[in-house]
Amino acid sequence: MNRADMPEFIQINTKMKNKIALLIITLFVLICQAQEKSKTLTLRLERIDPVTNKSQVETEKVPIAKVGIIVMDMWDAHWCKSWTAREADMIPKMNRFLAEARRKGVQVIFSPSSVAAFYKDYPQRKAVFYMPVSREYEYPSVDDLLNLDEKKQLDYNLYSKRYFAGTIYEARDSSGYLYKGFPPLPPFSSTGGCECSDRNCTEADVWHRQNKDLVIGANDLIVEGNNKSEFLNVCRATGLTHLLYIGGAGNMCLTSSRETSTINMSNRGLKCVYLEDLMISISGNGYNPDTKMVDPSFTPQTGDSLVLIHLKKYIAPSAKTYEVFPDLK
Ligand SMILES: [Zn+2]
Repeated sequence: MNRADMPEFIQINTKMKNKIALLIITLFVLICQAQEKSKTLTLRLERIDPVTNKSQVETEKVPIAKVGIIVMDMWDAHWCKSWTAREADMIPKMNRFLAEARRKGVQVIFSPSSVAAFYKDYPQRKAVFYMPVSREYEYPSVDDLLNLDEKKQLDYNLYSKRYFAGTIYEARDSSGYLYKGFPPLPPFSSTGGCECSDRNCTEADVWHRQNKDLVIGANDLIVEGNNKSEFLNVCRATGLTHLLYIGGAGNMCLTSSRETSTINMSNRGLKCVYLEDLMISISGNGYNPDTKMVDPSFTPQTGDSLVLIHLKKYIAPSAKTYEVFPDLK
């Protein structure tokens, strides 16, 4: 029986089957395309030109498998009660952001310095102990260099090609050139660390763990922020090339005072990015660290933005969380 001889209802049935098959194929192609798209992240990276003070934006598409999010020092408590409160305020937004990151397949890494021992029995911490060891962290970190006298620092600038020969590929000097020496560190990191208007908190080691409301996922990892090689071992073993930094403080732990900080990791070839709406910086609440005067108009937000301008000028670019994951907007 040829097609024309078929009863009409069978012809309609065949046409419908063809249409359904086409629809299924189209859906399959669309799903494949969507999955392919979701395997990359588009990073909108902003820097500030140190010479013109103008914003410079470039976008970079990075395979998700190469992107890691690093959460710095979200302690349960700090000796400054205002700082403790400022960090705690970030937790709900941070949890939403990290949940979206895990859903998208981005590796989440917590870097709680001084309190990693609390997590010694967590599988997320134990997994780090079994990573293959990279030997690339044998040369000095920022803190190592700061502890040297000025002459020895200069010697590193001049002679230690391994350390400084353009390896800080994100840092720039005040004329905009890539920095070949010690990058200018951000402001306000030595304001005392008390964010209270009476500046009356007393220094003490009161931190024991991360903030208990900060969710740790099954596939996350936990490194010790002051262990020289752990984080680099993780990056090398998992193939990470791009690190998105969140937490506190932008002008200390995220940038220079931890072995896992942006300058130390940039020096080892990782591309570091600050996520500016999920980080805070030590500044002077009601006190202007520049003038060393009481100034109620100088808020933590003012301090945050001044630090961020410095970071974007001299250290590394920034992005915003809702640009990384547009679904969060
Ligand atoms: Zn305080």
